[in-house]
Order: sequence, then C-alpha cells, then structure tokens
Amino acid sequence: MKKYDYIAIGGGSGGIASINRAGMHGAKGALIEANKIGGTCVNVGCVPKKIMWHGAQMLDDMRLYAEGYGIDIASKQLNFKKLVDNRETFIERLHGSYQKGLDSNHVDLIRGHATFVDNHTVEVDGEQYTADHILIATGGRPKWPGIPGEEYGMDSNGFFALEALPERVAVVGAGYIAVELAGVLHGLGAETHLFVRHQAPLRNFDVMLYEGLVETMKREGPELHTYSVPKEVKKNADGSLTLFFENGTSHTTDAIIWAIGRVPNTENLNLEATDVEINPGGFITVDEYQNTTAKNIYAIGDVTGHIELTPVAIAAGRRLSERLFNNKPNERLDYDNIPSVIFSHPPIGTVGMTEKLAEETYGRENIKVYKSVFTSMHSSITPNRQKSYMKLVCFGPEEKIVGLHGLGHGVDEMIQGFAVAIKMGATKADFDDTVAIHPTGAEEFVTMR
Ligand code: FAD
Ligand code: NDP
Repeated sequence: MKKYDYIAIGGGSGGIASINRAGMHGAKGALIEANKIGGTCVNVGCVPKKIMWHGAQMLDDMRLYAEGYGIDIASKQLNFKKLVDNRETFIERLHGSYQKGLDSNHVDLIRGHATFVDNHTVEVDGEQYTADHILIATGGRPKWPGIPGEEYGMDSNGFFALEALPERVAVVGAGYIAVELAGVLHGLGAETHLFVRHQAPLRNFDVMLYEGLVETMKREGPELHTYSVPKEVKKNADGSLTLFFENGTSHTTDAIIWAIGRVPNTENLNLEATDVEINPGGFITVDEYQNTTAKNIYAIGDVTGHIELTPVAIAAGRRLSERLFNNKPNERLDYDNIPSVIFSHPPIGTVGMTEKLAEETYGRENIKVYKSVFTSMHSSITPNRQKSYMKLVCFGPEEKIVGLHGLGHGVDEMIQGFAVAIKMGATKADFDDTVAIHPTGAEEFVTMR
C-alpha cells in the first residue's frame, strides 16, 4: 500500500490549494480527483461564469450605452459557439497550469473516485493508499427541486454545456447562481424570466441591494416573477416546456434552469468506515481548525457548508496545511467579514453585516447608516441612466464600519480594497480622512454624509 504524509480527496479550489501548500513545506502529498482538475470553480463555476458575464456586459454596453456615446454598431450579433469555444480553450489552459503547480510541489495526481476503507486508508479503483493526514474537499453539486418533470430542466452544469443560446429561458431560484445566470442569459439576448419563491431574489442580503436589483431588473430585465413556487414541468408537442406554479400560474419556455442551491458530496465516500460525522444539514461537521470528528481527517470548502466561495476553500486549505506541515498550531481561517461579489447586471459587492443584522445585534440606537443612490457616470449620457446604490453600516460612537454594500457599475472591482479596511477595523472617520479618487463610483464610499 502506498503511504503519503497527506492525501486530499477532491481536486477543486480547496484540495489543490491545500495539497500544494503541504508540498511547499516538504510533505509528500497525493491529490485524488474523480473528474476534471480544478473542480467546480474552474470547470462549471466562477471561471466560465465570469467569461459569460463579461460577454453579456459587452452586449449590454452595445445595446444600452454605445449609442449614447455616439457609437454606431450595426450588428450586435452574438456568435454563442465562438464564445463557448474560447471559454473552454481558456479553461484547458488553466488545467495545464494546475498540473504544473502539482508537479512543482511533487504531488501525485490520482485519477478516480475515492472511498474510505478506514480512518487512515482510502481506495481508488481497487488500489489502497494511506496517509498520516487525510483531507476531504469533495465540494458539492446542484440541488434539484424534486417535482414531476424536473428532468426537462437543467442545472448550472447544464448551462455551461449549452452549445446554442436558447431563445427563451426560465431560471428558477433566488440566490447567487439564479441571479447571475438569469443576468447573463438576458444580456446575451435570450428572453429570460427569473422565478423566485418570495418577494425578491437575494432576500438574505442587505435590503438596499435586493430592492435596487429588483428596480434595475424592472427597467432592464430579466423579467422577475415573485411568489412563484414551481410545482410541475410538462413537455409540449412542439418541444417547448411549460412550468406550472403553486399559485396557479404557468409559463412556457424553451429551457428551464434550476438554480435553487447546492448539496454536499458526502455520499459514496463510505464515511461509515470512519469516525467522520455529518451534521443535520448534510455537511461534514468541522471545528474552527477544519478538524472533523475523526482524528487526522479534515474537511474544507463547500462540503462543510460554511461559506461556499472559492477563496474561502483556498484560504481554509492553505491555513490547514500551514498548521499541519509548517509548525503553526494556531493557524486557522477567520470566517468573519468575508467579502463577496454577485455578478449581476450591474454587479453587487458586499462585506460585513446587513443593516438588519447590525440592528438585531447592536440595537437600532447604536448603529448609523449612510446611503447614497446616484446615476453611474458610465450611463449618464446614455438613454439608460442606471442607478448605483451604496451603503455603510456603522456601529457605536466611533462609527466602526461593520457593513459595506454596493450595487452598481464597477462595484465588482471596488470591494476588495474596502474589505481590507473593514478587516482592519476602519471607522467612518478613517473613510472621511481618505481622499477620494475622482471621477469614480468608489469615491462615494469615502464621501458619504
Ligand atoms: P469543488 O471545487 O467543488 O471541488 C470538489 C472536487 O472534488 C470536484 O472536482 C469533484 O469532482 C471532486 N470529488 C468529489 N467527490 C470525490 C471523490 N469521492 N473522489 C475524488 N474526487 C471527488 N465562488 C466564488 O468565490 N466566486 C464565484 O464567482 C463563484 N461562482 C460560481 C458559479 C457557479 C455556477 C457555481 C456552481 C459555483 C460558484 N462559486 C463561486 C462557488 C465555488 O465554485 C465553490 O465555492 C468552490 O468551487 C468550492 O471549492 P471546493 O474545493 O470546496 O469544491
Ligand atoms: P443559494 O443557496 O445562494 O440560493 C438558492 C436559493 O434558491 C435559496 O436561498 C432559496 O431562496 C431558493 N430556493 C431554494 N429551494 C427552492 C425551490 N425548491 N424552488 C425555488 N427556489 C428555491 O444557492 P446557489 O445555488 O445560488 O449558489 C450556491 C452557492 O455558491 C452560493 O451560496 C455561493 O456561496 C456560491 N456562489 C458564489 C458566487 C459568487 O461568488 N459570485 C456565484 C455562484 C455561486 P428563497 O428562500 O429566497 O426562495
């Protein structure tokens, strides 16, 4: 049986980051991957999504804004196949660079599906491997609604497998993926309808963000349908699909995308052979150091259900390897104030507490909120005057900034730097002391009154 210092199951964002960092510290590692190297983010997540988002943004610029700038673009035609082909070529290049990274850290890549034999041993295609430390970084997969006819729809993996743009699409769901894919499809020119179960998509984000997004969708699309709980899908004789809702309405379309959340990949690992416990949500139970309930077995990333973002999986994986292989016993990821961007149209950026959470945590009388709504300069001379929305949530007499939220042109590239300031404990006075960069959208965050 081959023995390693460290085995990582799952060659996605977290597994690759952790095994490479272990290798840099001299540990002999093996990475086991059942599918394509890079996992969800690289193959069917962040990377292809961002490429499609850029494509949709370019078409938006041509459709909504170019004319206002005096630019006459006769043909706004999209060659969907070319976009997809170029996207996949780019992903192939990323696969190559991941392989190089593993090679330079002397990591063995084992292709196949891993199952546990016991707390120290895993099996892939009949071969057994043992290690002092084993990491579970098996990620998740899309959830399906469990309604009759669901098989006529597709999930986000199906979206990335599309070779032609459907003429009409219905997107069902209210989170990151539903909002992003509906925005991309609409931007690329499909007649897109977004169906959510409650009053708005992203209703767990700050109220300004989802209300601003709903306002923008009303003017620019995609068409939003609220209080729509899917009940059944039927395929019609002409190949179209009809989606029926609990509220008695129905909608006919060419394609349906389920974007209603994700479930962790914990089955088929034979966890029963180990002491690893699963929590009631179906995720692997871990403590703040990513230890599972089995000694020397750890878990990171989406399979733990903590904050399902690529940089979170990477950061947790690297810190774990620092702890295990670089003599840093206290190294762990601090899950507070993790920033994120939703690649909506325009994009949303957020870090820290929503206004509602700050109110519940500190009391309304102890928080102060600054807000700014303005027309983005990008759209100011065009017929489609698009609004930007920005908010600071401050706590206590020092006005420590505990939440920063934005929706608007360029917000996706603004948030990272502000997240550093918030992580360092910045106050409103620190923001006021910072000289603005003009003319930008970001300057609003340091000039609010
Ligand atoms: P994954 O990347 O899912 O990797 C898990 C790997 O384990 C997979 O490759 C799988 O094949 C493998 N595996 C599973 N079981 C086994 C087994 N038994 N044996 C061997 N291999 C196994 N996050 C962002 O930060 N920004 C974004 O813009 C963003 N966009 C997204 C868009 C979409 C459509 C989706 C679906 C997700 C997006 N995410 C984004 C989330 C991000 O992709 C995940 O948080 C991230 O990939 C999690 O990394 P991970 O290492 O935990 O798991
Ligand atoms: P989310 O958990 O973000 O959202 C799914 C939402 O769909 C739920 O919150 C719920 O909203 C709604 N929903 C759930 N069940 C149903 C149902 N049966 N019918 C209709 N609607 C339903 O999941 P996603 O799949 O969008 O994304 C998974 C995770 O991936 C995200 O949480 C995020 O961490 C990550 N991600 C990050 C991205 C980024 O960083 N830009 C992009 C994409 C994904 P409600 O209760 O309001 O109905």
